[in-house]
Amino acid sequence: MALGFRPRYAPDVAVSSSLSATGVRWDLRDLEPDAEQATREWDELFARARDFAERRRGTVGSAGAQGVRDMLDELDELSQDASRVHFYATAREHTDATDPETNDLATLARDRAADLESMLLFVELEWLALGDAEAETLLHAAELEPYAHRLRVAREEKPYVLPEGEEQALNARRPAISAWESLHGRELATLTVEFDGGDGPEPHTIDRLLSYVHHPEREVRLAALEVLYEALEGVADVQAACYDAIVGDRLSLDRLREIPETMWPTNQRNELAGDVVEAMMSAIEQHYPLGRRWFVRKASVLGLDRLQLGDQYAPIGSDRRVEWPEAISMVDDSLRDFSPRFSEIFRTCLDRGHVDAEPRPGKVGGAYCNSVSKAVLPYVLLNYTDQLRDVVTLAHEFGHAVHGTLALERQTYRAFHTGLAVAEVPSTFAQLLAVERLIDNEEDVSTRAMLLADRAESAMASIFRQTMMARFEIQAYGIRGEGKALTSDRLSELWFAENERYYGDSIELPAGYRLGWSYIPHFIHVRFYTYAYAFAHLVAFSLLARYREDPERFAPAYIEFLSYGGSRAPQDLLAPLGVDLRDPQTWAHAFAEFDRCVVEAEEGVDALEAA
Ligand SMILES: [Zn+2]
Repeated sequence: MALGFRPRYAPDVAVSSSLSATGVRWDLRDLEPDAEQATREWDELFARARDFAERRRGTVGSAGAQGVRDMLDELDELSQDASRVHFYATAREHTDATDPETNDLATLARDRAADLESMLLFVELEWLALGDAEAETLLHAAELEPYAHRLRVAREEKPYVLPEGEEQALNARRPAISAWESLHGRELATLTVEFDGGDGPEPHTIDRLLSYVHHPEREVRLAALEVLYEALEGVADVQAACYDAIVGDRLSLDRLREIPETMWPTNQRNELAGDVVEAMMSAIEQHYPLGRRWFVRKASVLGLDRLQLGDQYAPIGSDRRVEWPEAISMVDDSLRDFSPRFSEIFRTCLDRGHVDAEPRPGKVGGAYCNSVSKAVLPYVLLNYTDQLRDVVTLAHEFGHAVHGTLALERQTYRAFHTGLAVAEVPSTFAQLLAVERLIDNEEDVSTRAMLLADRAESAMASIFRQTMMARFEIQAYGIRGEGKALTSDRLSELWFAENERYYGDSIELPAGYRLGWSYIPHFIHVRFYTYAYAFAHLVAFSLLARYREDPERFAPAYIEFLSYGGSRAPQDLLAPLGVDLRDPQTWAHAFAEFDRCVVEAEEGVDALEAA
C-alpha cells in the first residue's frame, strides 16, 4: 500500500532491456484521458466542494439521520472523485518524474487537494462538536449504519481536540515542524558516497549501499555497510536534532491535548488497545531466541564462526530467473487456489493495464497498491527484476488489491479504509500463500533452501526487527519526556542496547551500526509506525494455520472479512476467523507457525549441505 512516505526514485535500478516485464506499464485512462481533462476536473471539484460547503455548513447537528446520511453520501462521492483525479497526477509523477507537464499537474494536485481538504473539514469538526447523547442517537440510526463505525472511531479524538482558535494556531505552525521532517529527509536523500560494488568506484545513495546486504560476496556486503556508517557520522548530529525537535513537539502537543499515553495516537489509528499492543510486543520479545537460533545456523552454513550484521541477509542457496509471464501464472494459481474470485480480480487488473511492473529511469522504487475509488479497480506498481522475490512482491500487492476491490464493493469509500495494522494483513497473507506454493513446487534443493530462508528472514525482519524499532522509540520518548535531549550519543546508546537485546551474541554488531537509527524514515513521519508490520505478519501466520486446519470453512469467512473493509474494529473483524486479539494464546498460535518456518528453513540448509 502507499505508505505516505516520500517516494524513492530509483535511478539505481539496473535497467536492462532484457528484463521480462519490459513494456508492462500503467494505462491511466480509467483515471483520466489526459492532463487537460484532469486540470478541468480539479476546477469542477473545487466548485462542487464550495457548493457543498455553502449548503451543508452548520447543519450536521440539525439535519437528522437521513440528512447526515445524504451529506456523507455526497461527501463520499466528492472524496472518490478527488482521489481519482489526485492519483492520476501521483501515478504520472511516480512513473515519469521528468515530464514537465507531470510536474505541473502534481503541483496543482497537491494544492487543490489541500484546498479541498480545508473546505470539507467542517463535516468532521461539526461531528466532533456534537454532544455525546446526540451523537449516540445518530450512531444507532439505521440510515447511518454504513458510516457508523468510522464515525465512532473519529469521535475517540474528541476529548483531545482543542478549541477552534487554538487548533488553527497549531495548524499555522505546522510548516515549521514539517521543515524538520524535510531537513531529515533531505540529508538522507542527498547523501552519496563513493563505493566500488564491483564495477569500479561510483557514487552510491543510502538505498543502493543497503541493497548490498543481499550481495553474494561477503567483502562487498561488509564494506558497503562500513562506508554507509562512516557517511552517517557526518549527518548524525543533524538527524538527532531533527528527531529531538519532532519528538519534543509531539510530546508538548500531547500535554496540551492531555493525551494520556505516548502510543495512544498510533494505537487509535490502528484501532488497537494499548494493552493488546504491549502483550503482542512482549510476546515477540520473548521469542527473540528463535531469531538467534537461525542466525547461528546460518553462520555455520556460510562457514563462519559468527555472523556480522552485514551477513544477516546474505543469500543462501540460489535464486532463479522467473520471467514475467511465469510470475503471472504463479500468482494467478496461488490466488485461484484460494478463491476463483481473487484470480478474476488479478486478471482484470492486468488486462485493464492497472499493473506497472517495468523498472525504468524516472520511475519510483519499491511497490504499492492504490485502491482509488468504488468505480475504479486498484492500481499496482512494482519493479519487476525477474527474481523469485519479485513474484512474492506481486502476490503481496495483489493481497492489497483483492482486499480493496472486495471492500469497495460492499462498503462506502469512507468505511473501506482501515488502519495500517489491518491493512497489511491481507497482503501478508497473500504473500505467505504464494511463497508456500513456490516452495511446494520447487524441486531444486538450492532454490528451495533460498526460498525457505527468505521466508523465515522476512518474517524476522517484520516481526522482530520492527518491534525492536518500536521499543527503541518508546525508550526515546520516555527520555525526552523526562526533559533530556535526544542527542546522537544518547540515541546511539539506546539503539545499540535494543539491538543487542534482539541479536544477543548471535550476530556481531559493528561499532558504526550505533548510528543505525539515523536513516529510518518511519521514526520521523509517524511515531511507533513499525509495530503494525509485526502485527500483520503474526496475524497472517495465525490465519494461514487456521486455513490449513479447515480450508472449506476458512475461505468464505476470510472473503467476508475482506469485504468488511474498515467498517468494524480489528477485534470484530478477526474474531470470526478464530483470531482473538485479547487472548494471549493468539500470539502463541502465530509463533507456532513462525517456528515451523524456521524449522523448515533449517531443513532447507540441511538438505543443501547434504547435496
Ligand atoms: Zn503492503
